[in-house]
Order: sequence, then structure tokens, then C-alpha cells
Amino acid sequence: MKREDVLSSNKIWETQTTSTMKCPYCKHDELKVTDSRNSSECNGIKRRRECLRCQRRFTTFETVDLSMQVHKRDGHYEDFQQSKLIKGLDAACRHTSISRDQILALASRVTQELMQRQAQVLSATAIGEIVMRHLKELDTIAYIRFACVYRRFKDVDELMEAIQKVRVQEEPLEEDSPQVLH
Ligand SMILES: [Zn+2]
Repeated sequence: MKREDVLSSNKIWETQTTSTMKCPYCKHDELKVTDSRNSSECNGIKRRRECLRCQRRFTTFETVDLSMQVHKRDGHYEDFQQSKLIKGLDAACRHTSISRDQILALASRVTQELMQRQAQVLSATAIGEIVMRHLKELDTIAYIRFACVYRRFKDVDELMEAIQKVRVQEEPLEEDSPQVLH
């Protein structure tokens, strides 16, 4: 399993591996995790860290690359990359009430489910179905957007039918809670 870490501090983005994770300010390599408050929700993707030398704090994002191949619709194979999954979810969740932390938590849950399957190859369609199942519980708009790409509706009627189905399910649950846009 390969890990890719993206350090985020004051809009500076940097990519490095876990084994050589260093403080972005002084390059010291002894760091401690200072905030585990969100880490359970994001399942370890996002961590607040503190440098043991300069004491500065920054947030790290760690994504997992499973040793699993994705069989794409065009027939090609590629390595599963969690960062790609997060990118896809970001696009689907734009202008919805879903927060960045919710996206990371979702990506983490999907990745865990994929790991449990212990498959060496999974079709992009199968992964899409897993994502949709989780997304459906979070946000209707994001679900429809993702579904349009991954399920490829046969025609407009089929798409409208899917939208109607979700609306009917959703209506009794509607609340007047304020929505925060991210
Ligand atoms: Zn430092």
C-alpha cells in the first residue's frame, strides 16, 4: 500500500510520503498529532499536526492508494487512487451542503468498503455503485450528479425517474435546518 500525503498550510500544497513527512516550515521530521477531534469523522485522512521543534501547527491530508486495479469503462486498467475518488466527490458535491470533511469521511468509508472486498480488480461501475449508495444518504443533488456520470442513464426519462424517486423518498424527511455552503 502506497501513501501519498498532501500537506496543507497557509495554502501551500506539498506532496511527500509518510515516511519522510516533515514540518513544512522548518523541515523537522518529528511531528505529533494534536487534534484527533475530526480524525474519527474523516477516518484519519485529515490530521492536525504540530512540529516538535518549531511548534508550528498544520493540517495534513493522507490518501490511500490500494493495491487494486480499476477496470474502466473504456477497457483500460489503472491503480485505485483515493485522491482521484476525492476529486470526483469534490466535483459532485460542488454547490451542495456537503462539507469538505464530509467528502473526506465519505472517501474514507468507500475506501474501507473496497478494502474489505479484498479484490485485485474492481470495475469502475462497481466502485460507482458503492459511492452512490453512500452519497445518497448525504445529499440528493450530489447523488444525481454522480449518478449521471457513473450510471449513465439510458435516456432522459430514466434520469427523471431516478430524480423523482429520490424526491419522493426525501420529502417527508425535509427539515428547515439552515444550509451552510462550502
Ligand atoms: Zn517545524
